[in-house]
Amino acid sequence: MVRMAGVSKRYGTVPALLDADLVIERGELLAIVGPSGSGKSTLLNIMGTLDRPTAGSLHLDGYDVGSLGDRELSALRARTIGFVFQQFHLAPGVPVMENVADGLLYRGIPRGRRREAASRALHLVGLGHRMTHRPHQLSGGEQQRVAIARAVLGDPPLLMADEPTGNLDSHAGAVVMDLLRSLHEAGTTVVVITHDRDIAASLPREIRLKDGRIVSGARR
Ligand code: ADP
Ligand code: MG
Repeated sequence: MVRMAGVSKRYGTVPALLDADLVIERGELLAIVGPSGSGKSTLLNIMGTLDRPTAGSLHLDGYDVGSLGDRELSALRARTIGFVFQQFHLAPGVPVMENVADGLLYRGIPRGRRREAASRALHLVGLGHRMTHRPHQLSGGEQQRVAIARAVLGDPPLLMADEPTGNLDSHAGAVVMDLLRSLHEAGTTVVVITHDRDIAASLPREIRLKDGRIVSGARR
């Protein structure tokens, strides 16, 4: 699913990621862990093609990302990856149904079919009864499940989550993790950044970062 070789990322003079070699097979479920500032988000953003590396190569779903132009890369990203972030990133004041359905806007799918897909995804995350609610009418855990519904709408083979339980209490966090596990069981490759040691330890593989370097878990 993902193959990185010698990937580094500098922000000006700050080295955020150094010489990362990493292979993630299709169907894996893994955690990325490490102290704050160790490069976890940088690694995820590069893996997710949201950011380009300063050096090294990245293959995503068999494509050499460095050889793709911005349009080809956006298309590859849209069909390959769903993203979930700590801060949910839902549009305020917009009903849950539209928040999810809009996840397919850039895939040229007509509105009716977007809404059908959104309804299916919301039922999948257990929120079929909340489709006309606005985000502020939902709990944090529910908002994160809406964000997950939006991320998995187009059935991407890869789901990436950056601290998805970081803003949730432990019960809501456990519900979100159960959801990620069931998506993994259904075949999705799932990569989760987490600060939570128990969550990380409960996953089949842990990639550990320190000072921008992968210190363990680069290979299975
Ligand atoms: P983590 O997610 O593990 O907390 P990050 O990947 O966000 O760490 O950051 C790694 C390092 O890179 C940190 O020192 C951070 O300050 C720096 N960094 C991250 N993003 C930027 C940016 N856009 N500009 C400058 N420095 C950045
Ligand atoms: Mg981070």
